[in-house]
Amino acid sequence: MSTPDRPQGFATRAIHAGQAFDPTTGAVIPPVYQTSTFVQEHVGGLRGGYEYTRGTNPTRDALQTLLADLEGGRHGLSFASGLAAEDAVLRALLTPGDHVLMGNDVYGGTHRLANRVLAPWGVGLSTAEMTDLDAVRAGVREETRMLWLETPSNPLMKITDIEAVAALGHEHGLVVVVDNTFASPALQQPLSLGADVVVHSTTKYLGGHSDVLGGAVVTSDEEIAEKVGFLQFAAGAVSAPWEAFLTIRGIKTLELRTQRHSSNAEAVVEVLAAHPEVTRVYYPGLDSHPGHDIAARQMRRFGGMVSFSLAGGASAARAFAEGTRLFQLAESLGGVESLVNYPAEMTHASVRGTELEVPDDLVRLSVGIETPEDLVDDVRQALDRLA
Ligand SMILES: *Cc1c(COP(=O)(O)O)cnc(C)c1O
Repeated sequence: MSTPDRPQGFATRAIHAGQAFDPTTGAVIPPVYQTSTFVQEHVGGLRGGYEYTRGTNPTRDALQTLLADLEGGRHGLSFASGLAAEDAVLRALLTPGDHVLMGNDVYGGTHRLANRVLAPWGVGLSTAEMTDLDAVRAGVREETRMLWLETPSNPLMKITDIEAVAALGHEHGLVVVVDNTFASPALQQPLSLGADVVVHSTTKYLGGHSDVLGGAVVTSDEEIAEKVGFLQFAAGAVSAPWEAFLTIRGIKTLELRTQRHSSNAEAVVEVLAAHPEVTRVYYPGLDSHPGHDIAARQMRRFGGMVSFSLAGGASAARAFAEGTRLFQLAESLGGVESLVNYPAEMTHASVRGTELEVPDDLVRLSVGIETPEDLVDDVRQALDRLA
């Protein structure tokens, strides 16, 4: 037990927050409440407040408590996917005529959601370079209500100063939303830096095993929690009990995994940076990265995502992505297994021709937690074959 003046550490909370043992049997792991509805003792006589799983379910509650705790927020809400969570935030907090200013490198699906689903309902969207405070200020309009940013960003690993952008947003009365999927709360806690809302694709690092989709919203703002919570219930894109359980199971090892993801990425970056076929490495842990100092301040370590450009251009990038043996060619990220992605034609194909377009000589790696020497060998052999 921790003493009153020393709060529990992150790894302890990732295992225990919201996860009390089952009082009826003593089961160490709280049961998965795989049920759609709950018996009432008499009309309206709910047991423990549970009525119907779209509204509340004990397994989802356990996940929501855990997510809120890890992000240092008062309220956690979990959803069927990251985009379902984002949709709830956007629709709960914006109405026709409002405008949202997003980073010019947000997740492509986030941009598509705002641009192709919300815009036709009258919500304005524009993008700005979030690493440039003047550009952010210039992008704020009279009808702007929300700022939306991602750091590190995907796939160029740009670093935004959350504290500075949140302060700027609040000067203009905006709700500041941070998509914390890439860092996860193990590395960075945006609410403590002034953000109002954190969103996640728990599909990535939080779940961590590439076996479950999910999304989350965390906030300490009562009004925002109330509005997003209402939409979670009223529109119903909730996480199901089994998905919530799998996500909880993943989160227990988040801290350990993140340490290994980070050190494996550092080992891979070293090989990339020294290889003649590589023209540029995008990793916030490098001293040469333009956002390195900010990242060092707001992140605990630099995580498992690495991008790089190849001298041989698009054909070399594609050949590398098809030439690894251990790194598997697939979209997504944040799982225990290493993945390689060719953004221009995979994850970022949907933003081609927009301001979110990515360079075609770029490869993105999601560095897993395998034995580092095996990952390094694989990267080296794929690079050597380009020469
Ligand atoms: C994957 C991802 C999303 C979308 O989440 P889904 O779970 O796929 O719906 C949103 N933001 C970021 C940064 C992501 O990587």
